[in-house]
Amino acid sequence: MCGIFGIFNHSQAAELSYFGLHSLQHRGQESAGICISDGEQIHTHRGTGLVTEAFGHDQHLQLSGHIGIGHVRYTTTGDSGLPNAQPLVFRYTGGQVAVAHNGNLVNAGRLRNQLERQGSIFQTNSDTEVVPHFIARSGPPIEQAIQDALRVIEGAYALLFMTETKLIAAQDPRGFHPLSLGKLADAWVVASETCALDVCGAEFVRQIEPGEMLVIDAEGLHSQSFMEPSSRSICSFEYIYFARPDSEIDAISVHTVRKELGRQICREVPTEADLVIGVPDSGLAAAIGYAEESGLPYEMGMMKNRYVGRTFIQPDQELRRKGVRMKLSVVRKAVEGKRVVLVDDSIVRGTTSGRIVEILKAAGATEVHMRVTSPPIMHPCLYGIDTARRMELIAATQTPAEICQKIGADSLHFISAEGLISATDRTDSSPNQGHCLACFNGNYPTPTS
Ligand code: AMP
Ligand code: SF4
Repeated sequence: MCGIFGIFNHSQAAELSYFGLHSLQHRGQESAGICISDGEQIHTHRGTGLVTEAFGHDQHLQLSGHIGIGHVRYTTTGDSGLPNAQPLVFRYTGGQVAVAHNGNLVNAGRLRNQLERQGSIFQTNSDTEVVPHFIARSGPPIEQAIQDALRVIEGAYALLFMTETKLIAAQDPRGFHPLSLGKLADAWVVASETCALDVCGAEFVRQIEPGEMLVIDAEGLHSQSFMEPSSRSICSFEYIYFARPDSEIDAISVHTVRKELGRQICREVPTEADLVIGVPDSGLAAAIGYAEESGLPYEMGMMKNRYVGRTFIQPDQELRRKGVRMKLSVVRKAVEGKRVVLVDDSIVRGTTSGRIVEILKAAGATEVHMRVTSPPIMHPCLYGIDTARRMELIAATQTPAEICQKIGADSLHFISAEGLISATDRTDSSPNQGHCLACFNGNYPTPTS
């Protein structure tokens, strides 16, 4: 998973890219980078860590120009170090190009082998780097070269390209991950989530459509379809967990969907209890929905130390375990002597929920009934969300009853796949309303290699 941001025709392109990436920080914490063009040359700064760390000495202020793209990275393919930080910048016969990618290419390994056998030399081990290689082979014009590259890659990709004079956005034919277009006076903004448009004061215009390539240059916007859209496969995890609650995906509020998920699981499994609490932050909206539906009081039973990042996002299990302990604590007065409904968005490896049940009981909760607003995750994601390898997924090898016992809860229920779909029901008139549910049911929307 990653976050991408692009801006065209703004004198403060670097500052706004910085703000935009900051608002997309939840999508990746391992590295951040910004490329800015002044119309003649692309200037780049990339660093590891959070946006504030990567640009710790205000390095973005040294990037001058009016076009920009930026990226926050969360490793799914390749190492997490600086060489794999994006945007990647390369030179082809038509000039310089920078590229930022959100998603994961399922055929990158095969394409890379093929290119290497034909003499290409790779500088990173990220899946994205095959794209510049195919662009370089096609040569200018850039629009054609990008389309040629997009026709050979397969998988999930929301992509931003920047040349010295153009900003180009592309969305894969299934539209796995969101990509939105906004307008800020005479400037255009493209971002993974609408919260990044809000932060720089841009107005939402529309989403980039599946199979669309949008070229933004001095003449304006030029939309081209590089591939027939396939049936829509928006990642349901974007709604469940990943996107920020103040973002909208396909004009549907993420917060509203999360509340509805809470209501839905309450309808599916009514529970005798004294109060409802949510696991901060991503379980809170669903817990409020659950409380509203059940009539039980909603309590702030857990606190999150906001100076510790997302635990799961740390690429290593030991760091993840330590992270949970540092991150969450219980408000003893709220839960002592109470039967608690505990709402969270997902169980991946089971580290978080086991620890939470343990600290709730230690604080005096008499019963903990865990309700999870995603179905059991039984298959790995191939499209850019790190839901772990299959063997690490607790639901791939254990039944809900076994998981319940393992995490020490009094009961455990996952929302049904039908319930998930109904809560994320997208009401606009677009015919492409489908979701990707592959990590729950194993039905991968693309060929898998
Ligand atoms: P685990 O401890 O492995 O069961 O992780 C579950 C917790 O991680 C949940 O509470 C989620 O909020 C969070 N989570 C779920 N999926 C992801 C993901 N792909 N990346 C980062 N965090 C996640
Ligand atoms: Fe999202 Fe799961 Fe599909 Fe991956 S497999 S894109 S996490 S719904």
